[in-house]
Parts: sequence; C-alpha cells; structure tokens
Amino acid sequence: EAKAQGRNTVVLFEARLRDRSERRAALREALAEALEAGELVLHLQPQQDLQAQRMVGAEALIRWNSRRLGRWIPPGEMLPAASEAGLMPALDRFVLREAVRMIAGWGDRPDAPRVLGINISVTTLRDPAFAEEVAAALILAGVVPSRLEIEIPENLAIRDLPGVARTLAALRELGVPLALDDFGGGHSGLPHVVRLPVQRLKLDRSIVAGLPDPKSYAVLRATVTLARAMGIEVVGEGVETQSQAFALRRAGCNIIQGYLIARPMPMVELVPPLPEQGAVSRQARA
Ligand code: C2E
Ligand code: MG
Ligand code: MG
Ligand code: MG
Repeated sequence: EAKAQGRNTVVLFEARLRDRSERRAALREALAEALEAGELVLHLQPQQDLQAQRMVGAEALIRWNSRRLGRWIPPGEMLPAASEAGLMPALDRFVLREAVRMIAGWGDRPDAPRVLGINISVTTLRDPAFAEEVAAALILAGVVPSRLEIEIPENLAIRDLPGVARTLAALRELGVPLALDDFGGGHSGLPHVVRLPVQRLKLDRSIVAGLPDPKSYAVLRATVTLARAMGIEVVGEGVETQSQAFALRRAGCNIIQGYLIARPMPMVELVPPLPEQGAVSRQARA
C-alpha cells in the first residue's frame, strides 16, 4: 500500500516535471517567434527629481503580450526562458534599437525624459562587439550618447568583471552613462561599486521597502554617503509611499522611481504625440 502510494507520488512528480519542461519549451518557441513578429514592447517608468519636481529620466521595461500563449508574460518568466533559449543577445539588441528610436523621436521636447535607461544582460555586456553596436545605433539615429543609460544587472558576479570591463570602459569612453541596478539587494555591494565605472546606483527595492524604519534608513544613509564620496548619484527604486520618498529625500537621494510617481506605461502615454505633429505631416503631404 505504502509502496503503491510512493509510486503514485513519483509518477505525479514526473508528470509535473514534464508539464513544466513542456511549458518552458512552448515559452521558448513562442518567444523566438515573438521577437520576429514584433510582439515585444518597451513600457516606460518615469524617474522624478524630488527637488525640481519634474521628470528627469525613465527606465524601459520589456513587456510581452503573447498571441500564441494568449496572455501577458511577466519579465520574471520571460527572461529565464530567453536565457535558456539563447535569445538574450537578440532581446538586448531589440531593446537597444527600440530605446534609441524613442529618444530620436522625442528630439528636444522638454516634456520627454532627458535620459532613457535600458537593462542589458551580462551575456551581452561580455560581447566585445556590443559597445560598437551601441555607438553605431546612436550615430545612425542621431542621438547623443548621454541620453541613453545602460543598467548593469546586480547579479554581475565579481568573476564576470574581467569579461565586461572592456565593454563598460568603451561605453564610458563613448559617453553613455552607466547605472548599477538593484544595489544592496543581493550579495554584491561595495566591491562592485568601487570597481565598476558607474555614475549611478539604483537602490534595491528591498532597502526602499524597509523605509522609514531606522535600520533601513541607516543602510540608506551609508549608501548615499559612500556614493557621494565617489561622485555617484543614487536613485531610489520601487518607491510606493510618501513616507519612503520623504526618507529618501532626507537622506540626500533626490531621484525616485516607483508606483508613487507612476507605473510603467506605454511610450505614447508618457510622451503623448504632439497634436501639431499630425497637422504638420498632413500639411507636408498636401
Ligand atoms: P529592474 O530593472 O530592477 O526594474 C524594476 C522593476 O520594479 C520592474 O519590474 C518594475 O515594474 C518594478 N517596479 C517599479 N516600481 C515599483 C514599485 O513601486 N513597486 C513594486 N512592487 N515594483 C515596482 P518588471 O518590469 O517586472 O521587471 C523585472 C526585472 O526584469 C527588472 O528589474 C529587470 O531586471 C528585468 N527586465 C525588465 N525589462 C528588461 C529588459 O528589457 N531587458 C533585460 N535584460 N531585463 C529586463
Ligand atoms: Mg533596471
Ligand atoms: Mg532595479
Ligand atoms: Mg530588479
């Protein structure tokens, strides 16, 4: 009896594993197709300067509404599948192209973000050709490098540093700002900041979520002090409440991103097309 039950459990477990791996295989296939079919879009989340009371930048976040799977696939599900399928290089190039295209479209509009940040995987940062591809994309679109920021994933291990150092140095040389994402969330921390040529630190949501409690505030203060000493700007991410924003500001972190300001949204919602643009192009055609 007990043996039979044990066997049933094993069979069930195997069925579940098979289900899971089949689901993942379907996801990988659908993603390859989606990249071709243009199903992926970038949503933008604004970054607010608390002192100047205005939007100074935005972060581009990937969104995928899969026709084949019939639903939105969150990044947390999509990125591991992309990684497994070897699609991260293609995904990162898509994000680069789209972001540069958006910035070019905004031109000098004062109501558009001055800087647009993109998330780039470690795999791509290791590619010695990547910095030149960024340069080419910017030149082709006529975009100044200072308007495109590259966010470096926090999971970049110390052992990855030699592999990405050339790319990061080349991007800096080019004038592309670099940010270290999710600082203080994982195991990395201090050694990274000292060794990476970044201009910004994006505080991990876990630090912000603990505010304004004294321990989280102490971590925040220490981080801001350290960053200042190195000439690095700190951005508060995942800010959901006024009291978190207040604590950040009190600690000297003036730029925030989070649901308190706005959720990630389609580009046309953040920067609506100008009404006269339509008129001008109609005139031009007439
Ligand atoms: P991230 O780069 O740290 O992006 C911030 C995440 O926090 C986003 O999740 C955003 O929607 C979410 N968020 C923003 N404000 C708040 C808030 O106030 N409260 C809460 N609870 N969450 C907030 P999302 O879009 O699901 O992305 C998750 C992660 O996936 C990103 O973390 C980034 O590591 C990765 N990712 C997203 N888009 C891309 C992409 O285009 N390329 C690559 N390589 N990775 C991406
Ligand atoms: Mg990010
Ligand atoms: Mg982040
Ligand atoms: Mg994150």
